[in-house]
Amino acid sequence: MGGEGVFAIISDSSSYLKSIDIPTVGGYGSATTCVEVRSPQGQLIIDGGSGIRNLNDRIMSGLGGRVKGPYHIYMTHFHWDHVIGLPFFAAHFIPGVPIHYYGVQKDLEKLIRGIFQKPYFPVPFEDLTSKIQFHVLEPRKEFYIDDMTLIPYRLDHPDECWGLKVMSGGKTYSHCVDTEATRVTKNELGPDLPLYQNVDLMYFDAQYTLPELAEKANWGHSAAQVGVDLAFREGIKKILFGHHDPGATTHQILELKRQTTEYYNWRVENNHHVEALPEFEWDYAYEGMMIKL
Ligand SMILES: [Zn+2]
Ligand SMILES: [Zn+2]
Repeated sequence: MGGEGVFAIISDSSSYLKSIDIPTVGGYGSATTCVEVRSPQGQLIIDGGSGIRNLNDRIMSGLGGRVKGPYHIYMTHFHWDHVIGLPFFAAHFIPGVPIHYYGVQKDLEKLIRGIFQKPYFPVPFEDLTSKIQFHVLEPRKEFYIDDMTLIPYRLDHPDECWGLKVMSGGKTYSHCVDTEATRVTKNELGPDLPLYQNVDLMYFDAQYTLPELAEKANWGHSAAQVGVDLAFREGIKKILFGHHDPGATTHQILELKRQTTEYYNWRVENNHHVEALPEFEWDYAYEGMMIKL
């Protein structure tokens, strides 16, 4: 085969690669939960799972905004998969950089201090040179960071875990990971119902298939179909499904996606109400994914 032919093959394969989406090429990633929310003037980090390392690299290379902070980190809860990346967030070691930690848990400070501790980590909390402050929040009460209004709501998880509603510039992001979503009716949700109302983008825990959800009751994670039902009822405009099973292969996540498509279509086709269901977009999250609202 001549050079031209080889070139043609490479050119074909690169256009083929461009035609398929990122997760199908590179997988969904293996990092644990860390979400960055940006508003016109603000930046918020939710949880410090291993994904915070990628965010750190982006910030430190000058692509992620202000290296000198201040940084605002909201903690939903303190399971390993949500704290394991914190020691690798370099801002902790930059002298004078303000870092604000937020959480509903009363022992927020003790819990964060415990992460920077020998022999788990060589630098003890007392030796960190950044200016770290702790803000213990009231459940379901507004607080403010830059131009963002935030409200913590309780999720359904084995240890105390608080989701977050973030509002800015007329857009609303709702963080619903980790949750089993055992409370779904308006009555059951009670004071936590607003977490699912007037939402533009909901990040929802979809670790399990429906049969797994039944088998793994009280494990604290949910299934996409539960999120789909909530979105149809509350008029949520977009869902991103996340907190994939740590052992899930790309093939398994694509299978979850297929089941979600099937369920979504079934709901639309079997709508017996007078009004049409409010259709919405949804997708499965992959590492590094960015969504603009
Ligand atoms: Zn958890
Ligand atoms: Zn988790």
